[in-house]
Amino acid sequence: MSTPVVGEGRDDVADRAGAGFRQRYGTEPAGRWAAPGRVNLIGEHTDYNDGFVLPFALPLRTVVAAAPGPDGRWTVWSELDDEPVEFGAAEADEPGRVDGWAAYVAGVVWALRAAGLDVPGARLAIASDVPVGSGLSSSAAIESAVLAALVDLGGLDLPAERRPRLAQRAENDYVGAPTGIMDQSAVIRGLQGHALFLDCRTEEVEQIPFDPAAAGLAVLVVDSRAPHRHADGEYAARRKSCERAAATLGVAALRDVPTADLDAALARLDDDETRRRVRHVVTEDQRVLDTVALLRAGRVREIGPLLTASHASMRDDFEITVPEVDTAVEAALAAGAHGARMTGGGFGGCVLALLDADAADTVADAVAAAYAERGFAAPGTLTVQPAGGATRL
Ligand code: ADP
Ligand code: MG
Repeated sequence: MSTPVVGEGRDDVADRAGAGFRQRYGTEPAGRWAAPGRVNLIGEHTDYNDGFVLPFALPLRTVVAAAPGPDGRWTVWSELDDEPVEFGAAEADEPGRVDGWAAYVAGVVWALRAAGLDVPGARLAIASDVPVGSGLSSSAAIESAVLAALVDLGGLDLPAERRPRLAQRAENDYVGAPTGIMDQSAVIRGLQGHALFLDCRTEEVEQIPFDPAAAGLAVLVVDSRAPHRHADGEYAARRKSCERAAATLGVAALRDVPTADLDAALARLDDDETRRRVRHVVTEDQRVLDTVALLRAGRVREIGPLLTASHASMRDDFEITVPEVDTAVEAALAAGAHGARMTGGGFGGCVLALLDADAADTVADAVAAAYAERGFAAPGTLTVQPAGGATRL
């Protein structure tokens, strides 16, 4: 099996968006805007604990071809659906009125209007290489690409720093999906050859050099293809457990428990499960900081053990992994990966592994073989390098 290197197909998705636009609307688009998917290098379930995350933008992108349309009306077509969806200001102004996938588009119109911006009517056509629902944030990609298109078409004044928050609002308040600020930050502010160090309390960001290729390395992303079992309920339970623990410990959020005080903090909690949850969050924040320090020092390969420790913590303490992702991590490590971990909220989604660039096929084959042995549906694999964020093409 050979592992596809993503990035080569880049023009295709832009071509598809343009062709979709011409076919659907019978004219040329005024422009095309792209936004990438993202993956989180390390820092899981730290976001809602006011902690640290370190995502990077992927070379997989969603592209929106767009042109001005009748005022106060929006028509959107996606290659994922035959039928275009049309809505006006009344539907856009009432969260929930537009549902299904087009809610991600109407939500952006809503968020812009709610911020007092005069959003122009538009026609949009969307194509994407970001797998939908795999945890690579196709949702932030579509929101951020649509946002970039509408801002440019309307000549709106919306600096890059404000865009992640607006895109997040579209998803939280219009679509109704409770997500943090990480996805949209990575997708909008990603920079080639860098990961984005984000402090979820202050929303301060810093670009951290992360260029695996320059170090002879690659990141392999494995789509576990595990069905998302009970993910919503388990997520809510973890969140609640963290909030309760923070209250017991008398801190605003678990981010405020210093690593040096962890043992003392654990001793003040009265059940084992809560202790494990807290230990994950506190040690995971520290692993993000340690990863950032190593990357700043150019010691890319040495982050491997931190990735693997993050996985063990998610598996044993936070209890959010499933057999498919554990199998992928174990097989990748056994085949020579420097480190591997589940990435994303858990109960399925993707695994990432840091490996020598020339080992990608060997590791991907080993994961596929381990899957076959366990009788799991074949995983998807691809190698990626950190790419740039949302942009006009
Ligand atoms: P993820 O962000 O991990 O891919 P989500 O469940 O958060 O998964 O978001 C996926 C949803 O986003 C899809 O079900 C669809 O409604 C919407 N979406 C994403 N990309 C597209 C696209 N190219 N066209 C239409 N809808 C899309
Ligand atoms: Mg999403």
